[in-house]
Amino acid sequence: MILNKPKAILFDLDNTFYSYTKSHNFALKKVSLKLKNEFGISEAIFKKHYQIENKKIKQILKNTSSSHNKFLYFKNILERLNFTPYVRMAIELNNLYWEIFYNEMYPFPSVNEFLNDIKKMDISIGVITNYDTTYQFKKILCLGLENEIDYLVSSEEVGIDKPSEKPFLKMMKLLSLKKSESWMIGDSVNHDLEPAKKIMNSVTFLFSNHENSKRNNYVDFVFSDYAFLRSKLSKFN
Ligand SMILES: [Mg+2]
Repeated sequence: MILNKPKAILFDLDNTFYSYTKSHNFALKKVSLKLKNEFGISEAIFKKHYQIENKKIKQILKNTSSSHNKFLYFKNILERLNFTPYVRMAIELNNLYWEIFYNEMYPFPSVNEFLNDIKKMDISIGVITNYDTTYQFKKILCLGLENEIDYLVSSEEVGIDKPSEKPFLKMMKLLSLKKSESWMIGDSVNHDLEPAKKIMNSVTFLFSNHENSKRNNYVDFVFSDYAFLRSKLSKFN
């Protein structure tokens, strides 16, 4: 595949700039420990309720940013535990979760360097992400990437999660992007690369540590190290 210099490089956020999985698991563990230490609620019980609510909330609030809202998860878990009154505790659990989460965010190796390369080449940088706008802005701040990101579009502001075309179309408008002018980088074929290919005809890069991740119609490149992307971009220097 012959690459042209892109006008913009677009990214997913969670599990693309940093390990959401690690931050989430760590923060959730602290929430569980608080309930255990203060109220004797076992980690197994908490985990069970979390899994049930995760399924239920995603079913009810399908494809919306609210379906990922941790506050709703904690509120509903407290209800399942017959924990009343629960107003203060729901707020405390949510605050604890995010405090720990933000403290445990680290950009993947070479992400900073890659974003700096892009900036120097006068290429725009956009983030297209599922979830609440405020939280996603704060994540960018905690990752120390606020000076690199030109625009961030969230599923909250367009009313529907990726892979809907709406957040992609909004980003195209913000950057005056035409088809075939962008690269899209993400960890999900379904949510990031397939819609980017269909809507923007982007060159697509799948971030994956699984060696068996296959290229297909929606995936042009698979990479596990941002150094790979730096080398692709350096050709246009
Ligand atoms: Mg992701």
